Amino acid sequence: MSRLLHRSAAGAPPVAIGGEGVELIDAEGRRYIDASGGAAVSCLGHGHPDVISALHAQLDRLAYAHTGFFTSEAAEALAEQLVATAPEGLSRVYLVSGGSEAVEAALKMARQYFVEIGQPDRRHVITRRQSYHGNTLGALAAGGNEWRRAQFAPLLIETHHVDPCFAYRFQEPDESDDAYAARAAQSLEDKILELGPDAVMAFVAETVVGATAGAVPPVADYLKRVRAICDRYGVLLILDEVMCGMGRTGTLHACEQDGVAPDLMTIAKGLGGGYQPIGAVLLSQRIFDAFARGSGFFQHGHTYMAHPMAAAAGLAVQRIIARDRLLNNVVSMGGRLRRRLEERFGNAPHVGDVRGRGLFQAIELVRDRASRAPFEPSRKLHAHLKREAMARGLMVYPMGGTIDGVNGDHVLLAPPFIVSEAEIDAIVERLGDAV
Ligand code: PMP
Repeated sequence: MSRLLHRSAAGAPPVAIGGEGVELIDAEGRRYIDASGGAAVSCLGHGHPDVISALHAQLDRLAYAHTGFFTSEAAEALAEQLVATAPEGLSRVYLVSGGSEAVEAALKMARQYFVEIGQPDRRHVITRRQSYHGNTLGALAAGGNEWRRAQFAPLLIETHHVDPCFAYRFQEPDESDDAYAARAAQSLEDKILELGPDAVMAFVAETVVGATAGAVPPVADYLKRVRAICDRYGVLLILDEVMCGMGRTGTLHACEQDGVAPDLMTIAKGLGGGYQPIGAVLLSQRIFDAFARGSGFFQHGHTYMAHPMAAAAGLAVQRIIARDRLLNNVVSMGGRLRRRLEERFGNAPHVGDVRGRGLFQAIELVRDRASRAPFEPSRKLHAHLKREAMARGLMVYPMGGTIDGVNGDHVLLAPPFIVSEAEIDAIVERLGDAV
């Protein structure tokens, strides 16, 4: 019997006892291809010898030093590495223990920035419907998923939600991508004007929408329009790349492909590849300078922030990705995954869409292909599919239900960057059987 409160209170999942490359192994000796990278975490797969030896070396040297007293070599080296590869203008790093913590910290940085520069009335946060930014109370308030928020309302911070860039569901029949991008971006500008331009502090968006909508890249030019609107009204742009970032889409940061740099960016998951819990906020020099000139502090902090073991894991993972040129594999294996998915599900009666970027792909499950009408949410199709996939030795990340009145079920795929051609083919074959 398990004493843990698991995600499903009804029962415990299999016990994972080992991992090797793209596979996880349970206590019964069953092997599962980790086609979801957990939840887009395990970018180097499991048991990578170079990460393990880096962690051993760090543990031998220093496991923990509280940031109230010390910085550490590992944390400083990771910060250097992250700034060297950051989107333009992001020159400082705040290290935390995961994605939700990173989002919380970014929101508080935005708020404190405006207090420091004498604009304390800027306190509204705008995010999008169909977004996920984490499960702590602040991050939950930011996310647009009503189903997750409902039973915890009223939430601590008041956020306002605007249209997503999810053309597949929201585009009008004859609307071009460009017209849709303009309309979705316009909903942001309208909201800023409604709240009062001097009252809005930040717009938060996932560059490629992950868990809530299933690997939805922005429509072309949408993010450029968003950047221009934020600049026009002095609103900070926070891009949440916790799931889609750190190489997952084929460039280190997904926003590179959209030609946009944010004021603050959150990263986690693939940053440490699952070898340690770690997340970070990358922030602009302008925000850092406001703190330095003002109170001199960022009024925030966690006991385990900038943990040397976590920083050593992040540094090892990021150096290996660069050393082994793994982003090339993300692009080529991502292309193969997409082609295979399109071949396998191109005529499947219950798959309405195949989409994504790099090794971040998804299929959408629908009642019928022609109407793309979703299944009833009560069917809990995504949970059923997960069981079917596990029974075939495959880990996928299905999500769904009713999100802001929109029903849908999708299956997210985010295999490790080291995945081979044969493993991609096996993933699609097993997924096909499960569907
Ligand atoms: N933001 C996004 C975009 C995410 O996908 C997630 C996790 N799925 C989070 C934030 C929260 O990260 P964590 O689960 O590490 O707290």
